[in-house]
Amino acid sequence: MNFDVVVIGAGLSGLSAASAALGRGKSVAIVAKGSGNLSSASGHIQLLGHYPPEAQGHAGNPEEAIKTLIRKNPLHPYALLGIERIRDAVARFLKNSESFGLPYGGSLLENRLIPTSAGTLIPAALTPPSSWRDFSEASEIVVAGFKELIDFYPAFVAESLASRCKAPLKHLWVEMGTGAGRGLNSYDMALYMEKPEALKSLASQLKPHVKEGTFIFIPAVLGVTGHLALSESLESGLGCPVIELVTLPPSVPGHRLAEAFRRHLLRRGVEFLWGHDAVLEACNGKRCISLELGRGTGKGFSLKGRAFVLATGGVLGEGLMVLPGKIEETVLGIPVHYQKPFAEGDFLGSRELPLAMAGIKVNKALQPLSPETGEVLFENVHVAGRTLAGYDPYLEKSDSGVALATGYAAGLNAAGEDSSDDH
Ligand SMILES: Cc1cc2nc3c(=O)[nH]c(=O)nc-3n(C[C@H](O)[C@H](O)[C@H](O)COP(=O)(O)OP(=O)(O)OC[C@H]3O[C@@H](n4cnc5c(N)ncnc54)[C@H](O)[C@@H]3O)c2cc1C
Repeated sequence: MNFDVVVIGAGLSGLSAASAALGRGKSVAIVAKGSGNLSSASGHIQLLGHYPPEAQGHAGNPEEAIKTLIRKNPLHPYALLGIERIRDAVARFLKNSESFGLPYGGSLLENRLIPTSAGTLIPAALTPPSSWRDFSEASEIVVAGFKELIDFYPAFVAESLASRCKAPLKHLWVEMGTGAGRGLNSYDMALYMEKPEALKSLASQLKPHVKEGTFIFIPAVLGVTGHLALSESLESGLGCPVIELVTLPPSVPGHRLAEAFRRHLLRRGVEFLWGHDAVLEACNGKRCISLELGRGTGKGFSLKGRAFVLATGGVLGEGLMVLPGKIEETVLGIPVHYQKPFAEGDFLGSRELPLAMAGIKVNKALQPLSPETGEVLFENVHVAGRTLAGYDPYLEKSDSGVALATGYAAGLNAAGEDSSDDH
């Protein structure tokens, strides 16, 4: 199999890369051994939530915060891209999300404060359709829990949010009669909510609590594929805004985004090769020629590309492997940049963690560099997302933002590689 661009990884960075290369008219394959972290993530895109990190306050305007970060930290992935590329990546994502039927809201210019099932408000710039409305003018907020759903406690949410919201909060339970005989997680409950009688039952239990100016907060369980129609139908039936609160994993909004984005790319001709552990098969000098898929299964085959995007999700995504005393990159064997000891640091502190900062060092074209000499290791490989070195997404709240922007840029760079004629 032979493609213009081969993307390794199907998380947000890989999907963004594929979309960008496809937009340049290239043939694109995505190979992934698993679905990535997006499928269990919140679905909120944090571009830069906290800056400067030591202040621990949320950045009101991510674009301004990113410009400051770029000036102060020229090795940060955002600094390698520059603000124009980041703007283009955000615009492309917002347009894409509309065309795949999950229109995200927000912009690079404002962090919205999103209520969560932990009773906190988290800063996010781009938000799924039903996760945010401006509730500052609500006359009352009703937090509704589902008796059959595990890990969502409306009294706790209401009490925790009380000091963060102007409106008075009250809480209640609804009972869906799922008949499951056990506690359901959010994903199970979201599937159950796709039954027509389930939405009717929810609406009838909530309706008596709706007054002028009421906002309802519920856990994010309003369907999986049919989500948008369910959410609109519930709001119009109740005559008030209903905001879905992100839950513990498996978190349905991340799953909705992953599925909608993948279906969109599949419809547009991207070839998905699922369940394959990709490893380097052949290279010619500094050019990667092919990957071997399915090594050791007796059914191995070769996947060739003119250019490659390495979007393998770092340690969590299994693109980086932490071993005693060292960290290895699992697909191409690229040396990983890290400080020793990498497993130390204060996880709850206000300084970057060495393990979070570990990854592949790259240049402005996102080509991998030797951590020792700085030379380009593969000219036709571009690295994106959590596998990159030089930023701590947990501290600055930039995980999906960096994945989105570097994925987009890596996809464009890989599409540009197609003009090369040396193989
Ligand atoms: C529970 C949770 C909540 C989160 N909440 C937020 C949030 O609120 N805001 C935010 O901004 N971000 C959040 N994130 C982070 C975000 O979803 C992603 O982790 C981030 O976007 C990184 O994406 P990625 O594409 O780099 O990697 P991943 O999503 O991890 O994707 C990596 C891909 O590479 C594949 N892969 C790895 N190695 C190989 C190999 N050898 N061969 C083939 N395929 C391979 C994996 O199977 C996977 O498909 C959350 C993450 C989690 C887990």
